[in-house]
Amino acid sequence: MGRIQKMMLTGECNQCGACCFTRSGAVCENLEILTREGLPNATRCRVYSERYDGLPIRMIAKDGRILKGYYCAKNSPAEVSVIIEMGIKKGVCSLTRVDDADRAGAEQLKRKTT
Ligand code: SF4
Ligand code: SF4
Repeated sequence: MGRIQKMMLTGECNQCGACCFTRSGAVCENLEILTREGLPNATRCRVYSERYDGLPIRMIAKDGRILKGYYCAKNSPAEVSVIIEMGIKKGVCSLTRVDDADRAGAEQLKRKTT
């Protein structure tokens, strides 16, 4: 798990909201959906400036059920892994993994020298 803690992201969030959903499609009750999840500026967090790692949140399941026992993971290693899983791997997140960026940089350098 040490690897997850060391992973870092870079870039600016486009507020697509993908990382505020669970894999089963439940969504944080604080997420206001303006257009469609996954599109840039599609969502807004109603508690964005006050949110913190460990903030208790309720999730709303696809069938409308309220799910308890969830927490906002702001700026935590858990948040990084959710962003990778729900945003980057799905191709909707505007952030980049720093280790990926390093690899891209190294490849560019290689190309420049050949
Ligand atoms: S409280 Fe956290 S999980 Fe909920 S919408 Fe805001 S950022 Fe997303
Ligand atoms: S998936 Fe990425 S771009 Fe979308 S809201 Fe989460 S951090 Fe922002």
